[in-house]
Amino acid sequence: MNIKRNILLNPGPSTTTDTVKLSQIVPDICPREKEFGELMRNLRNDLLKIVHADSEKYTSVLFCGSGTLNIDVCLNSLLPKDKKILVINNGAYSTRAVEICEYYGLDHIDLKFPDNEQPDLEIVEQILKNDSDIALVHTTHNETGTGLLNPIREIGRLAHKYNATFTVDTTSTLAMRPIDIEKDNIDFCMASAQKGLTAMTGLSFIIGNKQKIIESKDFPKRSYYCNLYMQYDFFEKTGEMHFTPPVQTAYSAVQAMKEYFAEGEENKWKRHTRVFNAIHKGLDELGFKDYIRRDLQSGLVVSAIYPDDENWNFEKVHDYCYERGFTIYPGKVSNTNTFRLCALGAIDEKDIEDFFEVFTEALKVNNISIPVIYK
Ligand SMILES: *Cc1c(COP(=O)(O)O)cnc(C)c1O
Repeated sequence: MNIKRNILLNPGPSTTTDTVKLSQIVPDICPREKEFGELMRNLRNDLLKIVHADSEKYTSVLFCGSGTLNIDVCLNSLLPKDKKILVINNGAYSTRAVEICEYYGLDHIDLKFPDNEQPDLEIVEQILKNDSDIALVHTTHNETGTGLLNPIREIGRLAHKYNATFTVDTTSTLAMRPIDIEKDNIDFCMASAQKGLTAMTGLSFIIGNKQKIIESKDFPKRSYYCNLYMQYDFFEKTGEMHFTPPVQTAYSAVQAMKEYFAEGEENKWKRHTRVFNAIHKGLDELGFKDYIRRDLQSGLVVSAIYPDDENWNFEKVHDYCYERGFTIYPGKVSNTNTFRLCALGAIDEKDIEDFFEVFTEALKVNNISIPVIYK
C-alpha cells in the first residue's frame, strides 16, 4: 500500500509512520475478549515506563476521547468537597482548564501570568501559603499555543510543600521531552495517543498516583463518563475500559509504543531537537521573529510573528504549502498574530529543509519580502 506522506507541522495529530497507520488493519475483535484485555494491560504498563513511573505507586487510566478529556477528568475527579483548584495560567491550555472549572462550578483561582513569560513562583507560593483550601494545583507543561515551557518541577515542589495535588497537562510533551514523574513532582500527567506517541486520535490517558485515585473515591461525583476513580476501578476489576474503547486506535498505539521504545527516549528527544533547530534555522534565514524568548521555549513548538508586509496572507501561504504536503498552523495568542511550526511526529530535519524550500516559494509567489519585514 502506498500512502501519501504529509508533513504535519501543526501541534498534533502528527505525522505517523506507515507501520503505525497499517497496524490498525486487524481482524475484527470484540474489545471484551481476553486478547484485547491483554493488549490494554500492556499498553497501560508501557505508559508508566514512558514517564519512569514505579508501578507500585503509579497507574495509568485510559479513556476514549481527545486530550481535553484528561483535563476534564483530572479536575472534576480529584477535587475534594469544599476545596479549591489553583490554575497557574499563562496560555490557551491552562485557560481551557479554567473553563472546565467554570463549567463544573468548581471553586478555583485563575492565577494569570503573561503568555510569553514563565509564572512568578514567589506569587504562586504566596497564594498557596495564604489559602489552605487549595487542594489541587494545575498547569500546562508546554503551552502548545505559543511553545512556552513551564517549570513544572518547581511548581510541583510548591504544590507538595502546601499539601496540594499537582496535575500537569503534559499533552504536548509526553513521549517527546523526557519526563520523570517522581523527580518532576507530578501526581498526575496526561496525553493523547496522537501527540508525542505518534499514534492515532481517539485514545487518551492519565498517568498518576494510585493512592490519590483511591482516596478520590469519596470525592463529589461530578461526571459519569469522565470520572477517574470509576474508570480506574473498572480497569482494576475487569482489565477493561468501562465503555467501548477506540479499538483500532489502541492497535496503532501498541505499534507506536514499539517504535517509541525501539528509538529510545534519548534518541527521540534528540530527533525532536534536531527538527526544532532546523525550524529555527529556516525561520531565522527568512528573518522571522519568535513570539517566545528562545530560552523559554519547550523545544517542540515555534511561534513566529506575522511580518508587517501588506502582502502577508497566512491563508495563502498555508494553502500553497498544504497543496504540496506540508501543514502549518495559526498561533493561539490573543494580542499578536502568530503562526506555529511544531516539531512533533515521525519527521526529521530533512523534512524541515524540504518544507522551507516550499515555504520560501510560497512567500515569493505571494510577493512577500525576503527577509521578512517588521516595523
Ligand atoms: C493538544 C492538547 C490538548 C488536547 O487538545 P484536544 O483538542 O482535545 O486534542 C490539551 N493540552 C495541550 C497542552 C495540548 O497540546
